[in-house]
Amino acid sequence: MHEITLVANIIELAEKEARKAGVRSIRSIEIEIGKLSCIEKAAFDFAWMHGVKNTMLYGAERITHFIPGEAACKSCHEVFEVEELYEACPRCGDYFSEIVHGQELRVKSIRVEE
Ligand SMILES: [Zn+2]
Repeated sequence: MHEITLVANIIELAEKEARKAGVRSIRSIEIEIGKLSCIEKAAFDFAWMHGVKNTMLYGAERITHFIPGEAACKSCHEVFEVEELYEACPRCGDYFSEIVHGQELRVKSIRVEE
């Protein structure tokens, strides 16, 4: 379950930011998860619940945005929404496309106690 590693990375990043800001706890965190990032929501929630124990994120509100997948066709340059990797271009039917959105996993913002 790679979600555990991902959650650990997010916590580490958030705590580093909080320490930089000189605070001891984090009030809320905003995360963006791409729909094509192979992160399973249930597994992520589970990993989060256990991962935040004894960290600055314990009790913090988590706001998760799911970013839809978007690909750009390499043949006709059409940009289209995709549900999974390797979908055919709706315009020309080509399978050679480049994913432009949907694979991200990032911390968008962190709100700390003042
Ligand atoms: Zn195309």
